[in-house]
Order: sequence, then C-alpha cells, then structure tokens
Amino acid sequence: MTRRVLVINSGSSSIKYQLIAVPPTEDGEKENEVLASGLVERIGEIRDGRLRHDGPSGRVTREMPIADHKAGVGAVLKLFEEVGPSLEANGGLAGVGHRVVQGGDRFTQPALITDDVVSRIDHLSPLAPLHNPANVAGIEAAREVFPEVGHVAVFDTAFHSTLPPAAYTYAIDREIASKYGIRRYGFHGTSHGYVARRTAQLLGKDPSEVNIIVMHLGNGASITAVRGGLSVDTSMGLTPLEGLMMGSRSGNIDPAVIFHLQRVAGMTTDQIDTLLNRKSGMLGMTGSNDMRDVHEMAAGDGEDAFDAQLALEVYCHRLQHYIGAYYAQLGRLDAIAFTAGVGENDTWVRENSLAGLGQMGIQIDAQRNADRSQPEREISADDSTVRVFVVPTDEESEIARQTLDVLFP
Ligand code: ADP
Repeated sequence: MTRRVLVINSGSSSIKYQLIAVPPTEDGEKENEVLASGLVERIGEIRDGRLRHDGPSGRVTREMPIADHKAGVGAVLKLFEEVGPSLEANGGLAGVGHRVVQGGDRFTQPALITDDVVSRIDHLSPLAPLHNPANVAGIEAAREVFPEVGHVAVFDTAFHSTLPPAAYTYAIDREIASKYGIRRYGFHGTSHGYVARRTAQLLGKDPSEVNIIVMHLGNGASITAVRGGLSVDTSMGLTPLEGLMMGSRSGNIDPAVIFHLQRVAGMTTDQIDTLLNRKSGMLGMTGSNDMRDVHEMAAGDGEDAFDAQLALEVYCHRLQHYIGAYYAQLGRLDAIAFTAGVGENDTWVRENSLAGLGQMGIQIDAQRNADRSQPEREISADDSTVRVFVVPTDEESEIARQTLDVLFP
C-alpha cells in the first residue's frame, strides 16, 4: 500500500518539510508524490516567524511568533489540520524521516530514532556544530508532536561509510586524529546515493556493475567516485568545507593560509571560519553566490566582469581536477552525472568542466546539453565512451524511502 512519510530537515532557525506518498516497492513504475511542502523560518528570532505551506489548496503563508522548534512543528501540524492535506487520512502518517548531517563513523545506515540515538547524534555536535544541534532540536520537537509514529534519522555521511581508509585518512598524527575523530566523512550522501542509483538505471545496469562520478553542484557542492554502487572517494571531508569551490565556501586551500591570516592579518579563528565558510567561493570572488548572477556579470562589461569570469574558470578548473583524480581511481568510468541547482541548470558549467576531455572518452553533445525539455536526460555525444547525464536529485524522496525501509523492512 502507499504510505505517507513526513520528511523534516531542520536548521538552527528553520524547518523544511515535505509530506510524501511512497507507493509500494513492487509498484516500481510509480514515483513518489509530494502531497505538501513548506518552510518555517525565523524560529527563535525577535521578529515574527514566517510559515509557508504548499498544499492542495495552493500556498498559505502566516507570520507569528515561533519561540522554538517545538512551536515550529506544532504550527506545521496546525496548518495541515486547517488547510490540508489531512495527516489522518489514508491510514495516517507511516513515519517521520529526519535529515541529519553528521553521523560520524557510528551511523553507517539510517537509524530508528530512540533516546539513545538522539543522544549519540548530539554527541557528534563538535564535528558539525552548525548542523547537528539543529537536527536534534527538530527531532525532539517532532517526536513530541508526533509521538505515535516511528521516527528515522537519515545521515548525509552514511553513503560514504564505504570509503576505504586510504581515502578517508588525513596524513596527520594518528593519535590526534583518532582522539578527535579527524578524518574525511563526506556529505550530500543521500543525494550521491540516489543519483548514482538512478544513473545506473539510466544505463540499464545494476548499480553493482557500474562506476560513476556524481557531481552534486548546489550552493554546497561535492563530487563522489562511486564504484559498483559504493562511495570510494568524495571531495568533502571532516566538514563540508573541503573540496570544490562552492557558493560561499572556499573549498580546498593550503591549510597554512589559516595560520598566515592569524599571524599576519591578526584574524581570529571565528573570523577565518566565517571567511572560508560564508564569505568565500563565488560570493567571495564576485559578490554573489548565485551562478545566474555570476554569469550575468561575466557576460557584461562592468568592472565585475573580470572577477566573474575568473571565478567561473576557477570553479571549472577545480571540477576537472577531481574528475581526473576520480577517473584514475575508478580505473574504468561508465558515467558522469550532474545534479543539484548548478549541475541541473548550468549548461556552461557542464560544458566547460568537461571541455578537452575527449581523449578520456568524455564528449558532451552541445545540443543535448542545451536542451531542457526533460529534467532527467543524457547529454553525451553518441561516440562518448563515458556517458554523461543530468539527473535531478531528490533528497526528500530518498529520505522518505529510507525511512520506510527502516520502519517496514
Ligand atoms: P542548496 O545547496 O541550497 O540545496 P541548490 O541545489 O538548490 O542548493 O542550488 C542552488 C544554486 O543553484 C543557486 O545558488 C544557483 O547558484 C544555482 N542555480 C539555480 N538555478 C540556476 C540556473 N538556472 N542556472 C545556473 N545556476 C542555477
């Protein structure tokens, strides 16, 4: 039977949610259906909180004080009761799935949430101080508001639990690394896993038979080498700061830049953290973290054109760097998949990140690359030995699916 799952992604001052109907797995043809989605913002702020709910009767917005996550989830429940869809209908909710950013090396699979699991997620907060406490707040609130159903935590790191030691180990003192949990964990795992599986389906193969590079290029961006369905290398590390150039994150830099900024520029650790995580990448180089703005600047004749062009070149240079590395590590490459906001929409980035790779068997077809008629599509040329796809990611749907796998094995 079709089951309905509420998927919750909570940030420090926001809660995103979707109510998803998941058809039975035997019904492989049928896709998940989003019955409602919404966003609660400005939780715990002095200004009134803001709610947006898209349901069967269109969009409803509200402004009201929202003191904490519990009040936020309570307000969401009220909206469902007032404007629908009813959470009681069709046998009621089957479960609640929660996105959790950092699962450390403990959580290699989605987990049924118990008090012990919540406390373990909380204990991982030093590794993800911006994310895990917010995820815990969302989980605790939702468990109080929906006490009668099972709750499941789906971890961004879990798909990368198959990284081999050579890929996840940083070359530092082993005792320090072990004492403080310093290793590469990787993120966006729910998306990488989903897109790799879909890409295998598009190739007409079982995931275990193919090697794929998945490029998740959103505001945050990461790239993963997937061998036979398993993540074997990924660009994000201890935190989502490592790897590609992103909307507002620098990605890889020489770690000595940090010491230099401390010693020479007199910056504090927090200032450098903010600089590299929130004021770098596209935003730092051009003033905007949105690729559409950057392309507009680069095409214009304003003073910002040169910086914007350089930023785009740095972005693609870094992508190529990883494509080469992951191709070498995989040995054989069947497909490359682009996903997330930039990957799904930015024709220029797709073309330029793969430009000049003909010798490696990677050839894009310009017309297919520009064609937007199908969201999920192949863009490689007929003679490209590595096939290239655009595969829209769907993290919420994947969380709903994994939630049901745990609750109804
Ligand atoms: P998030 O990491 O916040 O989930 P998304 O995957 O939604 O991000 O990606 C958001 C980013 O996608 C935007 O900041 C923008 O840079 C980029 N983007 C969205 N639409 C387009 C477009 N049509 N062309 C180029 N880039 C786009």
